[in-house]
Amino acid sequence: MVTVIGLGQMGLAMAGRLMATGGEVSGWDLDAGRRAAAMALGVAATETAAAPVVILSLPNAAVVARVLPDLLSRMAPGGVVIDCSTLEPEAARSFAAAAEAAGVAYLDAPVSGGPGGAAAGTLTVMIGGPAAALALVQPTLARIAARVLHVGGSGAGQVAKLVNNLLVATHLVVAAEAFRLGAAAGVAVEQLLPVVNAASGRSAATEVNWPRWIASGGFDSGFSAGLMRKDVRLALALAEGLGVPLDATARAGLAWEKVRVPDAADFNRVASAIFEGEGA
Ligand code: NAD
Repeated sequence: MVTVIGLGQMGLAMAGRLMATGGEVSGWDLDAGRRAAAMALGVAATETAAAPVVILSLPNAAVVARVLPDLLSRMAPGGVVIDCSTLEPEAARSFAAAAEAAGVAYLDAPVSGGPGGAAAGTLTVMIGGPAAALALVQPTLARIAARVLHVGGSGAGQVAKLVNNLLVATHLVVAAEAFRLGAAAGVAVEQLLPVVNAASGRSAATEVNWPRWIASGGFDSGFSAGLMRKDVRLALALAEGLGVPLDATARAGLAWEKVRVPDAADFNRVASAIFEGEGA
């Protein structure tokens, strides 16, 4: 039995994948609609669920801090919390210490790959925490992920995730600006994309995001602009706290704040708005 707490875009897709790969799954979400969607997949939705392995997929550290004490009080010693939420490395370290005091292991385990990757079992998971706890949950992680990377001690998974998403956020901004330049000079993005993707300017922004979610007009990646803004803020706050000056990535981060795309919109809308001339 695995418990998934937070049955949003990612949590529901993970719960569905765990069900599809033959396990019993329980879960909980504050939102009754998300609980109903999980129950339709066969997930047992109960607020007090606490299997030996618990996956958290929650919006931020403040929510994890609200959920964790009660969860730890219900988990048997020897259990493992796999926290797939993206949050501050420092928060991950304090959650790990609280869990350890309750005889439970806590792994920071932020993910990349979106709801599509979770549903297909092809996520990349970035682990921070003890190797022994990771070994216990490898079989569970193997059902939702193609790659499980043990980055280091507690918090290291979150550092890797923030570095990754600072790059994604920056690549989207600079790709949008570069395509805007090309279009203004008379070469449409439809002509530019195959060139860039066959040449050295390519990135996931041009190879994946642009064709799949922007050019298609779908904007259905399952990752919101608000969550990407959170990740950028966390990365920039980490840099500030460490006294690491950032220039290009900080400017790209500012673009995410400036562009008037609602938090609830798909994050690719920000690149689309910059391409259309907003915020540049
Ligand atoms: P989401 O907003 O779709 O889901 C979060 C869920 O948590 C919501 O359903 C909400 O009702 C629930 N929730 C809030 N407070 C709760 C509580 N106290 N108890 C139980 N449930 C509660 O977000 P998401 O896109 O699924 O992202 C979840 C986490 O994964 C975030 O930290 C995000 O940054 C990260 N992430 C998301 C993606 C993606 O593509 N969506 C990719 C990688 C990482």
